[in-house]
Amino acid sequence: MKVIIVGTGFGGLAAAALLAKNGYEVIVFEKNDHPGGRASVYSEKNFYFDMGPSWYLMPDVFENFYSEFGKKPEDFFELKKLDPSYRIYFGGEKVIDISADLKKNFALFDTFEKDGGKKLQKYLESAGKMYDVSIKELMYRDYRTIFDFMDRKLMSQGLKLNLLDSLDKFVSKHFESDEAKKIVEYSIGFLGSSPHNTPSFYHIMSHIDLTLGVWYPEGGMRKVADSVYRLAMSYGAKFHFNEPVVKIEIEDKTAKRVITDKNTYNADLVIVNADYAHAEMDLIENEYNSYSKQYWEKRVMAPSALVAYVGVDKKFDELAHHTLFLDKDWSKGFDTLFDPKKAAWPENPSYYVNVPSKTDTTAAPKGKDTLFILIPLAPGLKDTPELREQFFNKILHNLETTIGQNIRDHIVVKRIFALTDFKDRYNAYKGTALGLSHTMMQTALFRPSHKSKKVKNLYYTGHYTHPGIGVPMTLISSQIVAKEIINEYK
Ligand SMILES: Cc1cc2nc3c(=O)[nH]c(=O)nc-3n(C[C@H](O)[C@H](O)[C@H](O)COP(=O)(O)OP(=O)(O)OC[C@H]3O[C@@H](n4cnc5c(N)ncnc54)[C@H](O)[C@@H]3O)c2cc1C
Repeated sequence: MKVIIVGTGFGGLAAAALLAKNGYEVIVFEKNDHPGGRASVYSEKNFYFDMGPSWYLMPDVFENFYSEFGKKPEDFFELKKLDPSYRIYFGGEKVIDISADLKKNFALFDTFEKDGGKKLQKYLESAGKMYDVSIKELMYRDYRTIFDFMDRKLMSQGLKLNLLDSLDKFVSKHFESDEAKKIVEYSIGFLGSSPHNTPSFYHIMSHIDLTLGVWYPEGGMRKVADSVYRLAMSYGAKFHFNEPVVKIEIEDKTAKRVITDKNTYNADLVIVNADYAHAEMDLIENEYNSYSKQYWEKRVMAPSALVAYVGVDKKFDELAHHTLFLDKDWSKGFDTLFDPKKAAWPENPSYYVNVPSKTDTTAAPKGKDTLFILIPLAPGLKDTPELREQFFNKILHNLETTIGQNIRDHIVVKRIFALTDFKDRYNAYKGTALGLSHTMMQTALFRPSHKSKKVKNLYYTGHYTHPGIGVPMTLISSQIVAKEIINEYK
């Protein structure tokens, strides 16, 4: 049986590996020149940048994925647990390190508020329980109807925890201090979401970063993408790079052929890993769309971003492997990202700096640092070279002032990737960096379906679908799709 996959993000690579291993003939088309999708790599003058993901979280999910092939992550790359897990500068005034040792974090929380450590312990117990339930009951399954969802143990657990509350309301019941609240809320950014409109269920994110820890695959996230690519090839999957799909031809509610800019290929099954909205609006006749144009227009999209890849000719001790710069005016920041009426290039945004060369000697030439500076932006903002440059300079100024160092005179490599680049490079709807935000109405059953509602043999995998945004979630999405296909087309 011939399966054609559109896109080589983690979703496409994982689906290719799983199905090829199960005896399917797999052909994958990718518009760009290498595998990984948003986990692409950019290199210049021996500085190596992971263009997208830099946090290796949920190590248990990676273990589960590789175990499908009788392998372990360590068979492909060395994993290091980061300590500190990350550093935070609060509004340029106070700096703290989050340790890999929970006890140290409890002590840290005691400095923020009375009984802060005990409160964190209680919060993490709740997050840990919810994580276990969601891994066992929620994440690795598909949802076709509301009954699939209501039936779950999670519902009863959820009601106990009052999970229909928003994350920020839930957090306010646990903590009083600004620092504590920000530490347990910032991680919702990994899901392209705001604490105001994300269900409190997602406090599991604190179990993920604080309890399970933050890891680094030696050689960067590109090593992880490369490992899945090599796995897929080892089972016979074939890849065509620089060959965008321009149409999926459907007859009698069945996907028959995939047309690329070079050729036409017959298919028995098609799996789309490319952005869902792009596939529906650009690759498929309207009558076969599972969701209307209005549906997509009404979705809450996860932010886009400006990412600056900067190579510098010295090392900066003030920065950790992961450093967060959190704005004082946190709420206003979320408004400019998620409220279309307030969408604008932000005045004082929160931002994130990743310095892989802290941990990885292959990331930058000796004595130099590789800086990845990411600032979330509302999708669809006006984007010009002048606006990017002005904004980059503003952030650089803030960064230099906060860490008390001159950076600009040490820049030897600089590339800015933003808004329209996400659209051009990945066919990202409205230039979103992360896809669909995780609001209540865009979670689990309410995310776009893995299986087309109109076409029998058309499936979708990747961050738009359940369980959602992030590399681990995307691997799970493909595990769900592969299982469904294997059950349906034995
Ligand atoms: C800047 C940034 C930072 C991030 N940080 C993290 C992090 O630290 N940790 C984490 O876990 N996650 C992170 N993420 C999220 C994570 O990268 C994504 O959720 C995940 O990689 C999505 O994978 P995917 O396979 O669903 O989609 P993609 O990676 O987007 O793959 C889709 C592929 O389809 C291709 N394509 C599109 N249209 C066509 C077409 N017509 N024909 C052929 N091919 C096509 C695209 O080129 C792309 O290669 C980050 C993302 C970004 C952008």
